[in-house]
Amino acid sequence: MPPTFDNRKIMVIYVLGGPGAGKGTQCGRLVEDFGFCHLSAGDLLRAEQNREGSNYGDLIRTCIREGNIVPMEVTVKLLQNAMEATLKEGRPGDGWANGKGRFLVDGFPRKMDQALKFDEEVCLASMVVFFQTTEEVMLKRLLKRGETSGREDDNVESIKKRFHTYKDQTMPVIHYYAKQGKVAEIDSTASVEVVHKEASTLVKKLFAAQGTPA
Ligand code: ADP
Ligand code: AMP
Repeated sequence: MPPTFDNRKIMVIYVLGGPGAGKGTQCGRLVEDFGFCHLSAGDLLRAEQNREGSNYGDLIRTCIREGNIVPMEVTVKLLQNAMEATLKEGRPGDGWANGKGRFLVDGFPRKMDQALKFDEEVCLASMVVFFQTTEEVMLKRLLKRGETSGREDDNVESIKKRFHTYKDQTMPVIHYYAKQGKVAEIDSTASVEVVHKEASTLVKKLFAAQGTPA
């Protein structure tokens, strides 16, 4: 069976990096530049956790607090449903005309099993944008974010667990795509503006390589 979405029409860019590296912030900026639909795996999971009648609320809550990976069946399905809903709804702009679409899939895939499943069954991703900085920088950003985010995992104990999961489970995913020449690494230690410039240039290059108008 081919994937649900044809990657010649639907562009998927995975956005990876450690917790607090700046993925969500930069995705927001790339949405403004290129009209992407930004799907954050973490946001979708938090919404599902809080959805009345969800069978997965407790499972997701525990995984998030412990910094663990939520089982792929749940995460991949949520992403696929969100893509289907977005395409059904439609969006303005050339990137969404004639059955086309462009998605930034943020915080995904965080583990090899979800990478393989999504590429094979949902949509083959074009590239991985990898935001890289030190744990020291990420910790500082997350603790600052924790002052207002209300997130149960923006505390030192959960953050340490998230760093461990990232190194253990997510770095192998980045290495896997790097071997395929699909990873573009960006140092996200600099200011939001500087990082954004680099990310935007990179996406423009991808569009040019694919013959897609930005
Ligand atoms: P992620 O999605 O990777 O977990 P966020 O985009 O939520 O990270 O960023 C984590 C925190 O750091 C947020 O409070 C954000 O405002 C801040 N932040 C993001 N990028 C930068 C940057 N380049 N410089 C300083 N702070 C940043
Ligand atoms: P984030 O919002 O990206 O910081 O993610 C917060 C938490 O949600 C993570 O620590 C995981 O527990 C869970 N999560 C986010 N993305 C995924 C994913 N791709 N697969 C499984 N769990 C995820």
